[in-house]
Amino acid sequence: MAVELLEERIRRDGVVKEGNVLKVDSFLNHQLDVALLDEMGAEWKRLFADRPITKVLTIEASGIGIAAIVARHFGVPVVFAKKAQSVNLDGEMYTTKIESFTHKRVFDVIVAKKFLGPEDHVLIIDDFLANGCALNGLIEIVEEAGATVEGIGIAVEKGFQGGGDALRERGYRLESLAIVESMDADSGEIVFRS
Ligand code: 5GP
Repeated sequence: MAVELLEERIRRDGVVKEGNVLKVDSFLNHQLDVALLDEMGAEWKRLFADRPITKVLTIEASGIGIAAIVARHFGVPVVFAKKAQSVNLDGEMYTTKIESFTHKRVFDVIVAKKFLGPEDHVLIIDDFLANGCALNGLIEIVEEAGATVEGIGIAVEKGFQGGGDALRERGYRLESLAIVESMDADSGEIVFRS
């Protein structure tokens, strides 16, 4: 249900930009369609029902809205990794570096140690998966904490950019609700992996 709804919505309101960027800012990462996000949260709850999730982890800014609704479905807190320009390494933070796909910049990313620890079973949530930089950074933070990555939920995976398949090969349970196989900025055509 959520998969069909999301694909339909991407077809209707998604805009294919040059540089392999899909804009979905009218419903997913600027203006938020909360009813759609709620359906997506219910779907991930169904898909990861067998996993003992204690925390949802995402990265600011555009993951937060989605992850908060997902966390509500699991009845657990959501933690978002923060982007910082320069980090004071005071030992209270897990840190990693993430290269932003959309901004082509490297960010230091931090999570306070008090919000993630070895006892945690983490579901990582993000809006997009392209090359996998953002997710690799979040996975590193979970590993640094000694916590367990139980699964990864992505709204829109751009399958042709390979980040998702690399993560599946490494054994992560990755559930992308929509996987774009190809898209064309001139015609606006979007083809989904079935
Ligand atoms: P990756 O790190 O996997 O290369 O890229 C994922 C991150 O870049 C996501 O957190 C998302 O914010 C951003 N991103 C990547 N591709 C797109 C895209 O096509 N559209 C939008 N709106 N964001 C994207």
